[in-house]
Amino acid sequence: MITVDVEAMPRRSAASPLDRLIWGRFPEGEFGIQKMMSIAEKAGVTMTMMLDYAEVELYGDGLLDVGREIERRGHDLQLHLHQTFLSKSFWEDLTPVNDLNVSGTAESDAMLDYLLDQHSRISASPKAFRGGGYRFSAPFLSALGRHGIADLSCNASRATQPIRTRPRGQFLWSLEDRVVLEIPVSCVSDFRGLGRTSDYNFNAYALFKPKLAERIQLHRQFLKSFYEAHGTQAIAVLVLHSWSFLKLDENKQYFSQPDPAAVEAFGELINALAKDFEIITAARAVDLFDSGKLAIDEVLLFADEPERSNDGKPSLLSNLRRKVLGRA
Ligand SMILES: [Zn+2]
Repeated sequence: MITVDVEAMPRRSAASPLDRLIWGRFPEGEFGIQKMMSIAEKAGVTMTMMLDYAEVELYGDGLLDVGREIERRGHDLQLHLHQTFLSKSFWEDLTPVNDLNVSGTAESDAMLDYLLDQHSRISASPKAFRGGGYRFSAPFLSALGRHGIADLSCNASRATQPIRTRPRGQFLWSLEDRVVLEIPVSCVSDFRGLGRTSDYNFNAYALFKPKLAERIQLHRQFLKSFYEAHGTQAIAVLVLHSWSFLKLDENKQYFSQPDPAAVEAFGELINALAKDFEIITAARAVDLFDSGKLAIDEVLLFADEPERSNDGKPSLLSNLRRKVLGRA
């Protein structure tokens, strides 16, 4: 699955963030999602594009136009959320959520309702969600489950997850009253002997080599490790961002210039992937799950005991217990 988080955080661009970080408009040409979609379409690939609807508060209808264009071109439009962009009036009767990892029930329900409302203005019901910064909470998962929406936020490589997990293929979160399909960002432990867990991110250092052929080879190696660990029924999930064809400036603050080498690399990569793998969308994965055709071999529980978060403070979220189904 090729996923693209489509977002334009003002702090990432000195000028016109929507134009630069999503559309990728520069004097040299377009280096944003249109370019990405064109490359994917040429390879016969439908991508899953997760739009940060909270940015409607910043860009108004211009943000929804992004979703309309993704729809028009036939890619899979799904939900992303950086909730700190939501307006003061949104939080009127709620506690503002700075960290999605600790969002409570009322706030989670309200945020998801907001996303559903914005999404309904341009598309049919969504099937998938990814939290900003790969963050999520049990109440948010529960809200997703009520609407039959899968979560794509789990990323075992990140220290900022609400609970620690190991790399996995798709699995089920078991909450008090329901289960929710999780399709994690794919991770491999100790890839290239780096001594840490790496996630499958197009812009990751672990997947970079200056020579294109070697770079593609790294992707093959990563996927080989992933499928060896989780079986060929597992869904490998690649992450890009709408700004993945841009370069950070020297201060590592703004995406201020296009990166034609990244465009070329994506073209090569998607051709290689399309040749060797079946590439599916999040919507398709959820349809397979709903019709009982998606392989799931683990159910993870959020339990009630408090667990320490990574910064040593007690987490509001609960401990994780593991239950293995169908395996010794
Ligand atoms: Zn994001």
